[in-house]
Amino acid sequence: MKGITKAWISGIFFFLMASLAMGQADYALQRSQMVKTQIQARGITHQATLSAMLNVPRHEFVPEDKQVFAYSDGPLPIGNGQTISQPYIVGYMTQALRLKASHRVLEIGTGSGYQAAVLSKIADSVYTIEIVKELAITAKKRLKLLGYDNAIVRQGDGYHGWPEKAPFDAIMVTAGAEAIPQPLLDQLKVGGRMIIPVGPHNAVRQLVLVTKKKDKIIKKNVMPVRFVPFTRDKTKNKS
Ligand code: SAH
Repeated sequence: MKGITKAWISGIFFFLMASLAMGQADYALQRSQMVKTQIQARGITHQATLSAMLNVPRHEFVPEDKQVFAYSDGPLPIGNGQTISQPYIVGYMTQALRLKASHRVLEIGTGSGYQAAVLSKIADSVYTIEIVKELAITAKKRLKLLGYDNAIVRQGDGYHGWPEKAPFDAIMVTAGAEAIPQPLLDQLKVGGRMIIPVGPHNAVRQLVLVTKKKDKIIKKNVMPVRFVPFTRDKTKNKS
């Protein structure tokens, strides 16, 4: 009898482990399909971006009941009225920054932490700011748990950037702003690039690629996009 119980227990254990492994393998397959059909097929060629997106488990960054949709071709709700961007947009914005392994990156709008994880696989360090406290706390825990030690989360209004860590080689804003915040332009290195959705709220915005030259700022509209709005912390709002 004892032997049978033991066999049962090890049988159940084996079954659970096998299902877990199969689930992970299935997600890995879905991820490689996502990179192939949604990212590469639409013209993203930057190798480090592709391999980061192949590597980062997007399903770990969405609520449990949305995990089955994690690799689908669209944005997903992440709670607090916010969304994780469509994989293609993540790929496009990441490639646009032309990141190098030595780069220090600033992200505004941590959300789930997914984009920060992707950036952290490519660059040296990622500083990311999230205005919603609950999201900042969850993303911080999640990034730590998954081992993205070079992604540092701070809660606050990203309008002011992160002056203590400036200047940055690259800046990515993942919330739609009405205008480009001046502090972010100031904290970008000469030669650095910023990608930011700009335009009026409740309308289609333009994804703007900003290049900072020694004596001028070049802005180029690269694609129409929809993004959740860039909000401001009214309590500390000085500018
Ligand atoms: N990059 C995220 C998705 C961003 S959604 C991801 O990979 O999941 C946009 C996020 O920007 C939201 O979480 C929103 O709360 C945040 N946000 C909006 N305005 C902000 C501001 N002023 N400073 C910092 N975060 C802001």
